[in-house]
Amino acid sequence: MTANLLDFDLEGLAGFCETLGEKRFRATQLFRWIHQRGASEFDQMSDLAKSLREKLRTRACVQGLPVISQSESADGTIKWLFDAGDGNAVEAVFIPEDDRGTLCVSSQAGCAVGCRFCSTGHQGFSRNLTTGEIVAQLWFAEHFLRKRLATEDRVISNVVMMGMGEPLQNYTALVPALKIMLDDHGYGLSRRRVTVSTSGVVPMIDRLAQECPVALAVSLHAPNDSLRDNLVPLNRKYPLSELLNACSRYLARAPRDFITFEYCMLDGVNDQPEHARQLVDLVRGAAAGKGMRCKFNLIPFNPFPASGLSRSPQPVVLAFAKILGDAGIVTTVRKTRGDDIDAACGQLAGDVRDRTRVGDRMAQQRTVMLQPVK
Ligand code: SAH
Ligand code: SF4
Repeated sequence: MTANLLDFDLEGLAGFCETLGEKRFRATQLFRWIHQRGASEFDQMSDLAKSLREKLRTRACVQGLPVISQSESADGTIKWLFDAGDGNAVEAVFIPEDDRGTLCVSSQAGCAVGCRFCSTGHQGFSRNLTTGEIVAQLWFAEHFLRKRLATEDRVISNVVMMGMGEPLQNYTALVPALKIMLDDHGYGLSRRRVTVSTSGVVPMIDRLAQECPVALAVSLHAPNDSLRDNLVPLNRKYPLSELLNACSRYLARAPRDFITFEYCMLDGVNDQPEHARQLVDLVRGAAAGKGMRCKFNLIPFNPFPASGLSRSPQPVVLAFAKILGDAGIVTTVRKTRGDDIDAACGQLAGDVRDRTRVGDRMAQQRTVMLQPVK
């Protein structure tokens, strides 16, 4: 059987080299060729012995994901739609900013959590991506961008697991992918600059803390269990009190000293002053009375017809943010961007029969940067 080398973190690749009768340190060379130089042909790897290259040719490959489409906004945001086979497509989005380049990466084709406001959730679950398919998005984007910018320097400095899917429901594929991102012989990203975003898979938050602590974002979206049960069905399994306790435990090992709470602002549903006040009480009361060190990101809802929901008006969002801010919680509001990218997003979604609107989401998030409210 042919092994796809994008599936292996450095440890796994060392094990694979051993099965070929090679020394483990060969794996470092191979890993650097693949991830740091973007090589996919073993013949390119000039400092590997010919005999090893020969073995690799018959036993291994470096197999990325085919690109279905690429769309680009005037401000440099680029979205790629990748073909994951059997009619499944997943999206990755590159968001350039002055001081960083962020790639938003997908972890699953579809998603089983089924949040009401999320088009991926409405689509249902198709399958988990493999480690190689998660990494392929970064591998492709990084080397595409380097080529385009004619640079050998790193272009992507941050990865957010905020594309399609619930990363903590694909834990076994996720962790080696994160390790490849963090490895100095791979992409060398700082733990603080790799973010896992989750709707709240409590046991896996604990495992991640032990096995690969990176920055954590938790999609909250509601200040009480009855509303959250409705918006994020996973809440019925892991209610808010358990989720917040898991967040506190995570903080003990996290690379940052706060958790980011994401909160999608839905008109008339979760955006009232009363909800903001409940949120303040919730995070203040969390962690056995000590309070949770956290930041809030208020996300403008990106509407899609099947949701039956609409975006909160901007004054409502600002009033909500002010209540959190006045309570001393650092709160940022992501504003919507200009029309050109929305048009491009619409076209892209149209092309693929509205499989996912991750691009729309991310494009909005990029927009007018994050505006601290206080
Ligand atoms: N499954 C993970 C990560 C992917 S979703 C999670 O839920 O956290 C990434 C973020 O996009 C989440 O905060 C999610 O709530 C948000 N999101 C989903 N659908 C959205 C929409 N239609 N408009 C705005 N944000 C959305
Ligand atoms: Fe899944 Fe996240 Fe969408 Fe919820 S918001 S359905 S967890 S991708």
